[in-house]
Amino acid sequence: MIAESEVTNEVDRLHAAHQATIADLRHAIDLATSESTTVVSILESYLMIASDPIITQAIIKRIESGASAEAAVVDEFDVHKTFLYSARDQLLRERVQDFEHVVERMLAALRNRTLSHELRSDSIVVAGTITPHDMLFFKRMSTIGFITEVGGVTSHSCILAREYGIPAVIGIRNATDLIGDGDEIIVDGFTGLVVVRPNDATLQSYHKRMAEQSRERSELASLAALPSVTRDGQTVVLRANIDTAIDADAAVAVGCDGVGLVRTETMLVAFGRYPNADEQYQWYRSILERCGTSSVTFRAFDVGSDKFREGIPHHEENPALGLRGIRFLLYRPDIFEQQIEAILRASVHGDVKFMLPMISSIEELDAARRIMDHTIASLHSRGVAINASIPIGVMIETPAAALLARSFAERVQFLSIGTNDLAQYTLATDRTNELVADIFDAMHPAVVRLIAQTVDAANEVGIPVSVCGELAGHAAATELLLGLGLRELSVAPSLALELKHRIRMAESVACADAVATVLTCTSTTEVYAVLQSLQAGDHGRMIT
Ligand code: PEP
Ligand code: MG
Repeated sequence: MIAESEVTNEVDRLHAAHQATIADLRHAIDLATSESTTVVSILESYLMIASDPIITQAIIKRIESGASAEAAVVDEFDVHKTFLYSARDQLLRERVQDFEHVVERMLAALRNRTLSHELRSDSIVVAGTITPHDMLFFKRMSTIGFITEVGGVTSHSCILAREYGIPAVIGIRNATDLIGDGDEIIVDGFTGLVVVRPNDATLQSYHKRMAEQSRERSELASLAALPSVTRDGQTVVLRANIDTAIDADAAVAVGCDGVGLVRTETMLVAFGRYPNADEQYQWYRSILERCGTSSVTFRAFDVGSDKFREGIPHHEENPALGLRGIRFLLYRPDIFEQQIEAILRASVHGDVKFMLPMISSIEELDAARRIMDHTIASLHSRGVAINASIPIGVMIETPAAALLARSFAERVQFLSIGTNDLAQYTLATDRTNELVADIFDAMHPAVVRLIAQTVDAANEVGIPVSVCGELAGHAAATELLLGLGLRELSVAPSLALELKHRIRMAESVACADAVATVLTCTSTTEVYAVLQSLQAGDHGRMIT
């Protein structure tokens, strides 16, 4: 607590620290601009928090009631952190870290200290949390691994570690107590295991695994430039699922033929709000510019359920069955229009497709089209350059959409099967609930039949159909999907080369034969058994 006579001085200290924090963040943004658009957007969200006038006013009020500047900053941010901690949405809970980073910077500025790092190259960083700003620094220092005490797999630092390809294990409580400076550590990002001071046998086995992995990786790397074609000459278009512009670079590097799914809602997480049409336009454009002439499919914001929930009016008991995807977009046409406008403006910079999530009725498609037509007319009247005829597609991720696939196929330019949600809704199994994880399987015969029905509908009408759910990258599913007649698959860039390898090993005729049997299966176990026998038959063939 401070005396009344100290209030003015404390408020001055706060203002100085505030200015320093903002200047520091702006400087960091400048530095990051050439490095990573993701880091820039994260730092921008820090800047937004730090510059929030309501928060600043509240801190000043606390000082005026007798708190020191430091205490006022900590107490005010604690209120916001507690509010976020209690959110049902995990993504919102993870935003607590953003507030912590801003507090840390403000406190450092108040104490007139600069944060500094000392690090040898080839180090593993062990910390409570790691800021994206730190990440940039660590990457420059050739850090080889990260361990943090808190955070989730969707936290920004984790997203970056993945982008940089640096192994990270998160959520190890007391890691900073248990691990000492200079300790030898193994960070196994595949299993989430950390071994401190490993014995010789463990070290040796990990060295062996690392050597195997780098051999496998370099063997696969040679596939990047080779065509994605089966042994019997069927070409399979291999596209990427991406969340950020940096992912687009990764997609190009592994030889993907464009992007089959941009989960645009990740932009909302990075901004922490709905960006305006100009901000969105820049984001879409930066992806298109990286993809050259290859096509890029932007999916409209899939808001709701376990994803970004900003704008959903109240708590939902069953959010996965609630105001999600297209339902939310039709509920908030203002948000939908802004996104359509930004995508149409960006469409002059590349080969753009636009896709609607969570569709379950023709009425939703018609309503979306009306909004689109209205936006096109308004852009035309303002003289804005756009490509008004970008292909429109729907995602088939509800049983209703799969059963009506033929009707959708007659009304759109392409279909894309979201097997994650198609399995969730067909099997009535929450995809985020570990208690029912053993029931959630897109290889369930009911899901397989819905996929088959969708592919047939698209083929009958003569429009392209792809799979962009996780099943597309599933090691056991490649033959199934080829046998079902799929010739377009979209996966995370990190899975693309392995998938291409499996495609190049496959014989489409044999796959189709096996699928005829799969379609008679009545259990998931049987489906796996049929596919396994097919793969056993392929065993031992050379990769060419
Ligand atoms: C899907 O549901 O399969 C899909 C690709 O969409 P998301 O995982 O983003 O829901
Ligand atoms: Mg989905």
